[in-house]
Amino acid sequence: ALSTAACGNSDRTTSSNPSGGAAAKGFAKDALIGVALPSKTSENWVLAGDLFTNGLKDAGFKSDVQYAGASTTVADQQSQISSMITKGAKVIVIGATDAAQLGTQVKQAKDAGAVVIAYDRLITGTKDLDYYVAFDNFKVGQLQGQALLDGMKAKKPTGPWTIELFSGSPDDNNAGVFFNGAMDVLKPAIDKGDVIVGSGQKDVKQTAIQGWKAEGAQARMDAIMNSTYAKGDKTLDGVLSPNDTLARAIITSVKAAGKPVPVVTGQDSEVESVKSIMAGEQYSTINKDTRKLVAQTIKMVQALQGGGEPEINDTKSYDNGVKVVPAYLLAPVIVTKANAAEAYANDPKLSPLTKG
Ligand code: BGC
Repeated sequence: ALSTAACGNSDRTTSSNPSGGAAAKGFAKDALIGVALPSKTSENWVLAGDLFTNGLKDAGFKSDVQYAGASTTVADQQSQISSMITKGAKVIVIGATDAAQLGTQVKQAKDAGAVVIAYDRLITGTKDLDYYVAFDNFKVGQLQGQALLDGMKAKKPTGPWTIELFSGSPDDNNAGVFFNGAMDVLKPAIDKGDVIVGSGQKDVKQTAIQGWKAEGAQARMDAIMNSTYAKGDKTLDGVLSPNDTLARAIITSVKAAGKPVPVVTGQDSEVESVKSIMAGEQYSTINKDTRKLVAQTIKMVQALQGGGEPEINDTKSYDNGVKVVPAYLLAPVIVTKANAAEAYANDPKLSPLTKG
């Protein structure tokens, strides 16, 4: 599924759904809105559930917010979506557990007259998906790649620099897009020999961590520390980590191997990672303010309720293998110790962590 999604640079002109999304019929102001989220693999998903429950209520809708379980995620999510359709949901917002396994449910929704919005993660291989709302995932990857280079240069002004690469879960379409974005920045440096992948594992398949599991990242890093860095002839300067959960597992592994902490990237602005950044361990994270993403999604639902078309600002980046899905993309922000106070100034939870 990873390879089917396009992730190139996009054209950011606001237009009202030129590629033809859902039929604009409108529905009752207190209609049921279904929200199917994946399992809680990172803090952003926990936050999203609460924000949807409260935000949809404040907007006057009824809501059914569900998470896929921790183990049987795909089947759980499939049956949760089917049940939302049966209950008559008018819009179903889906953060997919597995991008490629929801075609049947999305078609069922369409047939029942419901609009489907992919939230944060694209759903692939279906023509029945109406909209996509997310942070610009390719940009996230580019920011991570650039932060890795900047962080290593700040620590050690002249190369070559030795790195390792990690990517997210292969069933999450975002994982490949993040990786491609990062490689867009890193590959020229690797090709020139300025940056060396110590283990030689450069392919997205070799770097993937199934289910975005911290244990998986720690185990892979342990193995690499053993195979590549134990003898001391190579020093690990940096690690591309696709998110904060994996970043902390990677740092734990390097420390357990008795080696100095390299420059490690991340994503999500998780509390423990922001603390780590302020303490000088993890190098960077990405701020994708979940409050903004949920608010944008609810705006789309409100537009549909009124019989209009939701605002779209990208009509070319997200080809799901069958169609280019009209999208609204928000801008991610890179955060290091240097700009954390500024980046989280409006975040009551994170802002206090950035003050000495
Ligand atoms: C999200 C990331 C998150 C990851 C694991 C991705 O689809 O975009 O923000 O870190 O899932 O939960």
